[in-house]
Amino acid sequence: MLKGQELAAFRKQLLAWFRQSQRNLPWRRTRDPYCVWLSEIMLQQTRVAAVIPYYERFLERFPNLHALAGAPEEEVLRLWSGLGYYSRARNLHEAAQRVVAEHGGEFPSRMEDVLALPGIGNYTAAAILSIAFEQKQAVLDGNVARVLARQGAIRGDLRSGRRWRKLQKCADAYLAAKSPGDWNQAMMELGATLCSPKSPQCLLCPVAQFCEARKRGIADLLPEKRKKRATVEIRLAAAIFADPKGRTLLLPPPEGRNLEALVDLVPTLTSNLWHFPTIAVNGDPVVKLRGYLRKLQIHSRNSSFRFVAANKVRHTVTYREITVEPFRITVKELPSIKGAEPVPLRDITVLPVSNLTRKVARAALTCNQA
Ligand code: SF4
Repeated sequence: MLKGQELAAFRKQLLAWFRQSQRNLPWRRTRDPYCVWLSEIMLQQTRVAAVIPYYERFLERFPNLHALAGAPEEEVLRLWSGLGYYSRARNLHEAAQRVVAEHGGEFPSRMEDVLALPGIGNYTAAAILSIAFEQKQAVLDGNVARVLARQGAIRGDLRSGRRWRKLQKCADAYLAAKSPGDWNQAMMELGATLCSPKSPQCLLCPVAQFCEARKRGIADLLPEKRKKRATVEIRLAAAIFADPKGRTLLLPPPEGRNLEALVDLVPTLTSNLWHFPTIAVNGDPVVKLRGYLRKLQIHSRNSSFRFVAANKVRHTVTYREITVEPFRITVKELPSIKGAEPVPLRDITVLPVSNLTRKVARAALTCNQA
């Protein structure tokens, strides 16, 4: 671990680089805790480029915490639609309501109050408190851990409890106490840009002289690979009704959420949002889908429905590799299904839907019905 003058020089060089070379990102133009919080939640497991338009649209509609707290959940989910990991949006909404109810609408500045909000863990709390309130809280996420692991040539699985604690100690020790917000962002920026997972650009790195992994020529070998969870393949079949007005039917999210759901449970795979009638299959998808539609009480002319296969849709969610076989069913009149809503097939995002459901809609739109 760096100490004394070496650590001081490391801090100075990294901060100077960050202040001069940081990417111009919309959430860096403010220190408002609401905006910092929103950006941190959106950026979890999502690329910066994908987040920017969502962040801007979200703030346009919900410019402050009160606006978010007062909105219906369905509208919050609709604006999140396509960004994935929808529990983030649900937690954000619930947390906003709690901040209004318990803190008078002022985002709390005490660590224990922030951690008590749904969807906020150690990393996010430290990021908000350091960036918005300049509190001395060091962040540790995947990017920072990679930088620290390379700088100190730390081998092994970084996510193991012992190593993660060691990295947190290191992050705490390195924190620049006078500018904790900039410091944390500088560490994350280095990890997100130059010290990237696959090919670190050590020649451009502002702190290369302090890097043990570079000195030993092992920068691109660190961090060492984690054991990956085995992937599970899931096959689904979806019914996409289409009436002469170009409308289709979406089923509502289930009531009550089953977070521990089976791996192939459709509501889980469609992020507990609106979705096409869909069923897990292992044999003939048409037979299974017909049976499922019958269960949904779609009796009328069910046996005469013509199922036209569209291109298969592939989608990956963490360890699940999903293949959906969409079937377009052209009808004169949309069947009536309890709770289902008719929406334009070309614009299903009038309701909150997952990326998987969007892909299925696109496949159905391009399907050849001849
Ligand atoms: S020298 Fe290379 S490996 Fe080391 S911190 Fe910089 S970019 Fe990362």
